[in-house]
Amino acid sequence: MLRHPELDSESVAVKMLNQVQHDLINEMNQTTTDITAKTNWAKIRADFPVLEQQMNGKPLVYLDNGASSQMPKSVSDRMDAYHKHEHANVHRGIHSLSQHATDAYESARTKVKELINAGSLEEIIYTTGTTDSINLVAQSYGRSNFKAGDEILVSEMEHHANIVPWQMIAEETGAALKVIPMNDKGELLMDEFHALLSDKTKMVAVVHVSNALGTINPVKEIIETAHQRDIPVLIDGAQAVPHSKVDVQALGADFYTFSAHKMCGPTGFGILYGKKKLLEAMPPYRGGGDMIDKVTFEKTTWNDLPHKFEAGTPPIAAGVGFSTAIDYLNEIGIEAIAEREHELLEYAAEKLNQIEKLTIVGTADKKASVISFLLDGIHPTDAGTILDQHGIAVRTGHHCAQPIMQHFDIPGTLRASISFYNNEEDIERLVEGIELVKKFFG
Ligand code: PLP
Repeated sequence: MLRHPELDSESVAVKMLNQVQHDLINEMNQTTTDITAKTNWAKIRADFPVLEQQMNGKPLVYLDNGASSQMPKSVSDRMDAYHKHEHANVHRGIHSLSQHATDAYESARTKVKELINAGSLEEIIYTTGTTDSINLVAQSYGRSNFKAGDEILVSEMEHHANIVPWQMIAEETGAALKVIPMNDKGELLMDEFHALLSDKTKMVAVVHVSNALGTINPVKEIIETAHQRDIPVLIDGAQAVPHSKVDVQALGADFYTFSAHKMCGPTGFGILYGKKKLLEAMPPYRGGGDMIDKVTFEKTTWNDLPHKFEAGTPPIAAGVGFSTAIDYLNEIGIEAIAEREHELLEYAAEKLNQIEKLTIVGTADKKASVISFLLDGIHPTDAGTILDQHGIAVRTGHHCAQPIMQHFDIPGTLRASISFYNNEEDIERLVEGIELVKKFFG
């Protein structure tokens, strides 16, 4: 476990007290979740109390997992127990409660490191989410490395979180934003990508899985190609880590970002993975408590990684909850999750393809569990409103990816994003709902 330098937890008494308290709290936190049969999807679905409720008089069908996934009871119970029995500030207390809170909070770092196969704990920076992670890289790495005439390469299918932070730093430094185009299936044009790379390119920032189209991008190829010119690559993995096995070392990514709330964890918590060498050379993004080594009015020196980038009191309960969320996903198995979601995606695509006057937007050969679609002559917002009246939650609009909508010259889409706890019945309810929408609008 990575210890904060301010803590001296080596004392035997402290260790013993920690252990006793840890055992007691573990006992208290026994949850009702018991995933023994790993592929018993009905049982797994029952771990999500939110799915048991009625919405507008109908059983809720939740197909907005791309925006935020739901939380199993084990995670909310863990956060509840933390608030009730374990809360104290982290990294700064000599007292046992603070040390226990620190251990519980830091346990997420170890689990994230293992989840994505990072090289060390120093490479795992806690942030408030993908957006915050990308802003950190743009403001820290970008500010100290970009200059007038440089180019930052993003793709046409980025979430705004992987466009706007680069635009902001480009404006400040005089760098320019360049865009890798995509075809009408929603696949990146790799020839264009190769052609856009030049000595001016100082960063490539690309989404791993598109939240609006579901496209799985060839990020390994993108990274390898950029590295031939020593260009660092940031991968926005917000929609990839929840649904597939990601190995940052095998990919070779310089930076990789994701959010806890899309992977059964709480909001307000996320991860920036960065290669240690790059992070060490980067200046802090925010100043304050916890990120310092020594402060005088003349000069301040920085704490070691990862704390250098983690100023102030963090969202401790969210970190603790995320640690349990990773346990939960691991217990099911990321590969099993990916397989189940693929099965449901194929089922949904087959059903939706049979509906007349429905067009799927985003038909890439390699897709994750997102289906964006349009109904002829019906505005997505109107259709989404009717679906909601039938208890079916889908996202409507531009999905924070307006350039994608500009590409297709559409105002937005309806988006069903599927998770492993959905089932075939959810898809059938969606199909019925769409038929009702069509009937309503004649
Ligand atoms: N990138 C992608 C691909 C996303 O889907 C999202 C959220 O939907 C984000 C970035 C932003 O994530 P957050 O709002 O958690 O910072």
